[in-house]
Amino acid sequence: MKLSTKILLGMVGGLLLGTLLNLLSGAEGSFVAQLSAWLVNSVFDVVGQIFVASLKLLVVPLVFVSLVCGSSAMGVNSRMGKMAGITLLLYMVTTAIAITLALLLANLIDPGIGIGLETLADFEPGAAPSVKEVLINIFPTNPIQAMAEGNMLQIIVFSILMGVAVTHSGEPGQKALALFQSFNEVIMTMTTFLMHLAPYGVFCLLAKLFSELGLGAIVDLAQYFLTVVLVLGLHCFGTYMLMLKALTGLNPLTFLKNARPAMLFGFSTASSNATMPVTMNVAEKRMGIDIGIASFTVPLGATINMDGTAIMQGVATVFIAQAYGIDISLGGYLAVIATATLASIGTAGVPGVGLITLSMVLQQVGLPVEGIALIIGVDRLLDMLRTAVNVTGDTMVSTVVARWEGMLDLAVYQEVSDRDTYEKELVPENPEEG
Ligand code: ASP
Repeated sequence: MKLSTKILLGMVGGLLLGTLLNLLSGAEGSFVAQLSAWLVNSVFDVVGQIFVASLKLLVVPLVFVSLVCGSSAMGVNSRMGKMAGITLLLYMVTTAIAITLALLLANLIDPGIGIGLETLADFEPGAAPSVKEVLINIFPTNPIQAMAEGNMLQIIVFSILMGVAVTHSGEPGQKALALFQSFNEVIMTMTTFLMHLAPYGVFCLLAKLFSELGLGAIVDLAQYFLTVVLVLGLHCFGTYMLMLKALTGLNPLTFLKNARPAMLFGFSTASSNATMPVTMNVAEKRMGIDIGIASFTVPLGATINMDGTAIMQGVATVFIAQAYGIDISLGGYLAVIATATLASIGTAGVPGVGLITLSMVLQQVGLPVEGIALIIGVDRLLDMLRTAVNVTGDTMVSTVVARWEGMLDLAVYQEVSDRDTYEKELVPENPEEG
């Protein structure tokens, strides 16, 4: 069986078992409830957390090593600057389209009309970072600290500097580069190992989540939930595919097939960061994107490009405004577009942060931040869906940039979807014996 099919099965199995356990564990103290609590806390939680931890473990070394290789491969010419500029522009444009789509559809569907505010729970908004802080924060004072804290933008800046310096250092630089290239291969192999654990990891993650997720919350907030899902779907399968076709002429269906592992991991982990090793693998091995592009665009996207998050924030803003009976002016909507684009840049690629940066957007248009409490009940599930969209967006933009720069291997792009990359990639331990 193909690995991606196994992962999908793990997902569906986890989802079904989790939902079943959730239904069965209603009677407290019963044998089934105890068994289910034991399974969830002692098995699913442990395996799931170890799985996510081992993905996260790869992120910092992967970004550092591959970006040093990548930026030195791009050379020190203006090409790197142009590529970075295009990438940033595309990330911003796709986010602005996402949020506009969200505002338009939310205003058509009116999900927040008639919502009773008595469901308000307590909500303490966390402090969202200011734009100034976000900007200053991009520049590291201490690379080791940046890596220890997993500060992605700082790691990106440091790695690019290092890669550029490598190209400028002549012979010693070439030796250093050879070392980095070897390390890069090793880390890619580690990712491949991990992918083989994915079906079990994903199964446990989803079984735990769904055993705890009361689906009742979704029924209460069905209109909001479905509006977000609708816009996410439109953006992912409409906007992205149209852009891909229009900007590169590539076949969108092949893109979706190739992108599937990243989407599945994004959904299961609800974290663009944790998914990064997989997104990188997908970009290089399935899309055929050169490391010079992927090593820059993927980590950058996982850090600043959150279209799914912006969509949730757009629909949530309209929903909360309607629930409180507050009108947002046209100027207000424009402010929402600007702030949500910035907020999504400032949203870290970890679960649930989009809800925190939503407070930035709400404050901008004078809406009560406590309104977030209204939607908290269904956020986890939406987080999974929007993260899948976030990583799809990163992959789509990377593909477009690579194609434009002439750094996309068409043969890989067209061929990979039919085979299982991960099975074939592993080099046997003793090649001579084989
Ligand atoms: N979980 C999202 C991500 O990692 C961020 C968010 O919307 O909370 O991409």
